Amino acid sequence: MNKNPDNNSVIETLVEGYKSFYKKYFEDDHNTFYRNLVEKGQAPKTMIIACSDSRVDPATVLGCSLGEVFVVRNVANLVPPCENDTKHHGTSAALEFAVCFLKVEHIIIFGHSHCGGIRALLSDFSKPSATSGFISSWMDIALGAKQKALDDQGSPTLQEKHCCEYSLINSLHNLTSFPWIAERVRTKELTLHAWHFDLETGNIRRFNPQNQCFENLVTTKELC
Ligand SMILES: [Zn+2]
Repeated sequence: MNKNPDNNSVIETLVEGYKSFYKKYFEDDHNTFYRNLVEKGQAPKTMIIACSDSRVDPATVLGCSLGEVFVVRNVANLVPPCENDTKHHGTSAALEFAVCFLKVEHIIIFGHSHCGGIRALLSDFSKPSATSGFISSWMDIALGAKQKALDDQGSPTLQEKHCCEYSLINSLHNLTSFPWIAERVRTKELTLHAWHFDLETGNIRRFNPQNQCFENLVTTKELC
């Protein structure tokens, strides 16, 4: 039994959203849009690996239509290294499906500022916690990024920014540890990207592997 009336309105809002969606895609459009997607199957050219953060839905930020991007979201948009064991690798399974079966041509790792995962990484995980430690274990993927950011010194804000950027570069590197990704990158069938979205300014910067810097995706002029 839900004792908080506000919780009911949260779900009602979602139901209203669904009704609008249904009207747009299954009623007004006579199901044409989805029928095409079902009959032809999905054929996205791009995979995006984004954070689970509710403020950074990549399809919304990048104005994508349904069927346009294959998305996996996890804490802090991390890519683990290729590990050949029998554990449950959700992100690696999504990568395998996108690359080997959908044959996407681009993978974008979509990082963002004010990331709770990155902040947790920079805080002291050794503090006693009531939780089971899944977050700290997952964030271990970016421990190298944390150390580099701390070595840079600077203010906590700057360290957080650097940690986020180093983590993106680390995830790019981890992508190439999957042999079927490395091979497609080599044959130029697949291109890897790392983008960083600033929640305060709305600016997106992309990693340039030539000079190892993050540069504006578009100029301020182009945005206006
Ligand atoms: Zn995040």
